[in-house]
This record gives sequence, C-alpha cells and structure tokens, in this order.
Amino acid sequence: MADLLITHGKTGTMDGQRRFFDDGAIAIEGNTIVAIGPTAEVTAAHAAKRTIDASGKVVLPGLICTHGHMAATLSHNMPVDFSKFTKFTDMMEMWWWPQVEDQTLADDIYWATKFAAARMLKSGTTTIGDMLEAPSALPGALDPQARACDEAGIRAVLAFEATERTSKRLGDLAMAENLRFVKERNKPGARVTGRFACHTAYTAPPDMLHEARRLADETGAGLFIHVAEFPPFLTVEKWGKPDPQMLEDTGFLGPDVLTIHCIHLTDQDIDLWAKHDVKVAHTPMSNMLGGIGVANIPQMLAKGITVSLGHDCFFTLNLLEVMRAAYLIHKVAPAPNPANLIFFQALEMATVNGARALNMEKEIGSLEVGKKADVLIVEDKCPTPVNAGTWMWYAVHDMDSADIETVIVDGKVVVEDHRMTTMDEEEARRKSQEHAWAMWKRAGVV
Ligand SMILES: [Zn+2]
Repeated sequence: MADLLITHGKTGTMDGQRRFFDDGAIAIEGNTIVAIGPTAEVTAAHAAKRTIDASGKVVLPGLICTHGHMAATLSHNMPVDFSKFTKFTDMMEMWWWPQVEDQTLADDIYWATKFAAARMLKSGTTTIGDMLEAPSALPGALDPQARACDEAGIRAVLAFEATERTSKRLGDLAMAENLRFVKERNKPGARVTGRFACHTAYTAPPDMLHEARRLADETGAGLFIHVAEFPPFLTVEKWGKPDPQMLEDTGFLGPDVLTIHCIHLTDQDIDLWAKHDVKVAHTPMSNMLGGIGVANIPQMLAKGITVSLGHDCFFTLNLLEVMRAAYLIHKVAPAPNPANLIFFQALEMATVNGARALNMEKEIGSLEVGKKADVLIVEDKCPTPVNAGTWMWYAVHDMDSADIETVIVDGKVVVEDHRMTTMDEEEARRKSQEHAWAMWKRAGVV
C-alpha cells in the first residue's frame, strides 16, 4: 500500500519525454515515487493511507537551487552604502568579509537557515546547494545549519567554504569541517548531505585545490567553487594565471564540480568546461546586484554544459524570480535576441539541470518512478489553459510562488495549505530579525 496518493492533478513530469497528464496521479511509498500516470490507472493499482485531491491544480517537480548562502540571509537589507564600492573586491573587503562572514555565529546560522528553508520551501524550492561562510563558527559550523534543514524538511547539500583569505589555519579548519560532515552525513537515503567547497581559485591556493580534489575523490562527495565572478586579472596578478586555468592545472575540474557564476569565462574556458563535464550554477540576480556582468549561458547550453540556477540568498530566496531573470536577461545581453533562452530551457535549469549539477539526477529533478518524492501542488490561477502544450510555458511565464499550496519533500508534506507543517515560521522570522540586528551591531553597521 502507498503512503500517499496525489490524484487528478495536471501533472507535468519533466521526465525524458517531458510527459504531461491532464488528469494525473502519483503514488508515493516512503520517500519514493512508485507510480505516476493517468489517475484511473494509478488508483486502480495503488490504495493509499492518505490521498490529496489535486483537482484543478498543477503538479510539478520541486525546484532545485544549486547555489546559496542561507546564513547570509541575515545580511538582507543591511544598510550599507554600495556607492563606496567601485569594484567587486571592494564589496568583499569592505563589507562582505568583515561585516557579514566574520560576524556570523552558530545561532545566527541556525535561525537564518531555518527562515531561509521555510521561505524556499513555500516558494517551491525543495533542494538547496549551500556554501556556508562563517569562520567564527568553526569548528562545528555545519551542524546548526544541518539541524535547521533537518527540522524544516528541505533537501540540502551543505559545504563550508574553504579559503585562506586570512590564514592557512582557517583553510585547514574549513577542509576538516567538510570532511567530518561528509563522513557523518553522506549515507544512503540521507536528505541532508555534504560536499567540499573552496571559495575561489583567488583565495584558495593550489595546495588547497589539490587537497579538495583528493578528498572529493576519496569520499565521492562533489565540489563547489565560485569561478570567474570578477575579471581574471586579480588571479593572474596573484598566481600568474586566470582561475579557470588554475583549476585545470590543479586537476580540480571534473563532472563532480559545480562552478558558480562563470561570468568571465573565455570561449576556450567554455570548451574546457564542456570537455570535463563541469557543471554551472547561474546566478543572474546576484550578478546584477553586484554589477559584475552576465554569464554567456546560451553558449554554454549550446556546448552541452549543464547549467542550473542559484539565488545566492542575496535579497531573494525565490527561485521562480531567478528562473524568470535568467529567462529574460539573455534576450537582451550581450546582444538583443528574443530567441536566446527558450522557455523550456529556463524550466530545465530549475529542475533536471539542477539535479544533474548536484550529481543527483537519479534521485530528483523530475517526477518519475524510483525518484524521491519532491512534489509541488500549485493552484491553477493561469488566465489560459494549462495543458500538454502549455504547461512548461505556464511554469516559466505565469506560475506565482503565492499559488504554491502544498510541497512534498522526501515523501513528507512540509507545506500544506500554504503553511509550514514542520516548524513555527513566525518564530523563525522573529529570531532571524533578532539575530540580524545583533550581528549588524557587532559589525558596527547600526
Ligand atoms: Zn556565492
């Protein structure tokens, strides 16, 4: 007997054939989809302990955000004068490192993550890839974050961002934190797992990149790294070569590497990415905020590179906004062309590509038998019919996060009737505000 049946939904699967069922049903046993198809067929074969009638609603796979910094949610709206930052490194050196990262403590991480997880789940994100930046909370910094994800019910791949921006000791502590966490958490069937992460090839020296690659090979956990967020001259000045070349020369690149931003990649770099099957997290909105440029995503997609989406946790936690930004920005930059980025490519970036980017394509990203049950049930408020010919258009053009009624992660209903079932959202918001204010005071900003 199934544990949960979702019946009579307009069900868009994102499976290999991009199948859609006008009157579809999904049977879930434990955390796994055991049947999907026309409601009559699925219900004839599966009785269930609980049935959710999705009549008049749209059923879709949960969205996947492959890059964020949940703890940094406490930096939202921090009253900082951006006009004093004349270049990207000013922003890091004058604000982000001293006033956000260095001020983030263990309890800040817990409450910020709890708030962020709830916000993301309610707006349709069921999986997050996160890089924690909080050196003052080492060792053990990933534990409060994992506890918040465990409790909220989101699927998460967590890593602490290793860097030697202040000292080698800081880098060693961060790598040890990741190794400990990966060993504890990367068990079959786990919903919250670990990875290794280096900040950038500018702040992580070659030794650290070698070591991260060695540990990734040894444990089977993948790697995160920010790449080419700013022009390569800084890395050239420091290490004698641009960061993509450093990653190639240290043997860092591979199909288990998720590279974030990738704005200043050359044509040769993009070929290198394709050759090594390196994955990309595209973060158009945070790149716009930083005034740092637009990644050449259409070219990457044309070369067969897996491009996913991240919100970076900068000012929005809503992946639908990022999906729409990604969909639109390439139509105007670098050269206006409405044919750039087709609607289904935007939806793929937020679903199946996200799964592949995290090397989790066998588990999530689409609604298919054998995959984890990460499902959205969305009220149909579309002005035109949602059907086999329109559902992917609808998801990109019209779907609003406020219409997301029910969210299921790992077979468990975590959002029901627009409310979190797993946690007290109001408490998380209140605590998040308290911790943000205290952090801003420590930083001398207020
Ligand atoms: Zn980032």
